[in-house]
Amino acid sequence: SSIDTSKDALELDDLFIAVKTTRKYHKTRLDLLLQTWISRAKQQTFIFTDGEDQDLRQRAGIQLINTNCSAMHTRQALCCKMAVEYDKFIESDRKWFCHVDDDNYVNLFSLRHLLASFSHSQDIYLGRPSLDHPIEAIERVKSDGSASVRFWFATGGAGFCISRGLALKMSPWASMGNFITTAEMVRLPDDCTIGYIIEGLLGVKMQHTPLFHSHLENLQRLPLQTVLKQVTLSYGGPDNKRNVVSVGGIFSLEQDPTRFRTIHCLLYPDTHWCPPRKTR
Ligand code: UDP
Ligand code: MN
Repeated sequence: SSIDTSKDALELDDLFIAVKTTRKYHKTRLDLLLQTWISRAKQQTFIFTDGEDQDLRQRAGIQLINTNCSAMHTRQALCCKMAVEYDKFIESDRKWFCHVDDDNYVNLFSLRHLLASFSHSQDIYLGRPSLDHPIEAIERVKSDGSASVRFWFATGGAGFCISRGLALKMSPWASMGNFITTAEMVRLPDDCTIGYIIEGLLGVKMQHTPLFHSHLENLQRLPLQTVLKQVTLSYGGPDNKRNVVSVGGIFSLEQDPTRFRTIHCLLYPDTHWCPPRKTR
């Protein structure tokens, strides 16, 4: 039988991980990611922000992209960043585009394991639906009125991945400023617009996975023995400080309020700032 070369072992370098951030979160959120999971994927992680930061730029190996998008939390500003993320991915020769927010921990082992079960040349859109039903959007395309379309989308706050094969097909609606036009046409946020292009326009179904997590869900309820197997994790914001995964030991809640440092030391115990492993 012939060997399917498209399913060769997935290398870290096959990934393009886009982290969306904004200037005011460089210190409060991004630093933690740089110290933890990004330190293990320096060449594969691209940081999309909206303001110059010499401190951040000087850190070796960090691929910082100033989108020049507005720093406001508006649909236009967020779609502007997603548009740049998409274009930079297409420009790269990577096999997988994964988007995460700056309050996500990415488990690189789990991510590689998950993506290795698919082929990047097929149409793959993986993520967690943010609702338990598809969204309905009004397409303002017909001159005599409007049509509605129902589709699922992966919530951006939990992260999602798209194969290169599918990303290339999105090009007419996503590349070079078209993404912003598409988002304006349906008046939807960036992550919904991705779902609209893939499910609504291309007719490709999103694959729902429970391995991606945002702080919209109760993270405390994730069973301890499965936490280290998840692809993405998150933590509650200042208003919901207690919504964090329940991993004990290593660091206290005061030392590690997000639990990301604890997770990181469990996954990479050889990290210099992790406590030495107890000798048995
Ligand atoms: N964000 C941004 N511009 C802003 C505010 C937020 O690009 O003006 C980014 C932020 O860095 C994060 C994502 O948008 O990656 C979601 O922001 P946040 O976690 O604050 O909001 P929520 O998860 O509640 O939607
Ligand atoms: Mn968030």
